[in-house]
Amino acid sequence: MYQKFSLFNIDIKVEISLNNRNDHFIVFNYHQVGKDLDKKYHNLGNFTQLDFFENQILCLKKNYKVITLEEAIKKANQNNIDGKYACITFDDGDKSIINAMNILEKYNVPATFFINSGYLNNKLACWFHIYQYIKNSPKYQKYLSEDIEHNIKYLRNTDNPKLYNEYSFKIEALYKYIKDEFDMFVSFEQLENINSDLFHIGTHGHEHQRFLMKSKEWQRENIIKDIDILSNLKAYRPIFAIPFGRPHDWNIDTIDIIRELNFDFVYANGGINVNRSVGYQRIPADGRVLEKLI
Ligand SMILES: [Zn+2]
Repeated sequence: MYQKFSLFNIDIKVEISLNNRNDHFIVFNYHQVGKDLDKKYHNLGNFTQLDFFENQILCLKKNYKVITLEEAIKKANQNNIDGKYACITFDDGDKSIINAMNILEKYNVPATFFINSGYLNNKLACWFHIYQYIKNSPKYQKYLSEDIEHNIKYLRNTDNPKLYNEYSFKIEALYKYIKDEFDMFVSFEQLENINSDLFHIGTHGHEHQRFLMKSKEWQRENIIKDIDILSNLKAYRPIFAIPFGRPHDWNIDTIDIIRELNFDFVYANGGINVNRSVGYQRIPADGRVLEKLI
């Protein structure tokens, strides 16, 4: 539908969005689900108890049409969000996503899983996972030097790449001490065998780093490496979830690369999506009461 009006004697046609104000899609973001919280691997902010998760799915089904993120983005890109939709996403490839898939399958609910291919089969892990594991393992705590203990608290929010890279490297170098017993992530083989009618795989970077702290070349190589590995999976879709995902975790270089690759992307600032957009917003849902969010 168009509206016509005149400006400086020139007729201008403006497209009027047919979007009803209630029409939107909301993207929920999870990380880990499980029966019990294990301090070495889980933290309250990233964890949802299994029965609670099942109730959340039932609540979502009651209030929304749950569709794949791919379908929701397609509707938005065509300016055709024609109802109330919800999408479920999981980040980081924690092995508990297999539990989540069982519940989602039970209710025929689709979901998208964003994977750091560098951590598949526990080949490596991100600094915050390694720190948490060591901090909660008495026999390894001796490896946490005073300067690591002092600087760990800055890594999540610092805008100083030198500090971020120095200490994230130092912590990730400790992985060699725990790698024989560390068991957090799904394997590539598990992802090959998921139900690809219901579940999609997207990219989350080869490694889980704050892209703002890295050069443009590093960012590009890291995304492309992830795509090279994940695109071998039948369930793969060209959607990127920015690691960490808050506005202070990425920069214009990140967006440039996403545009070069012609990818869609999601980030994490807690909003809902009502229109076509450069990137789509997600709402953290781990352990949260969805009735309060929706
Ligand atoms: Zn993540």
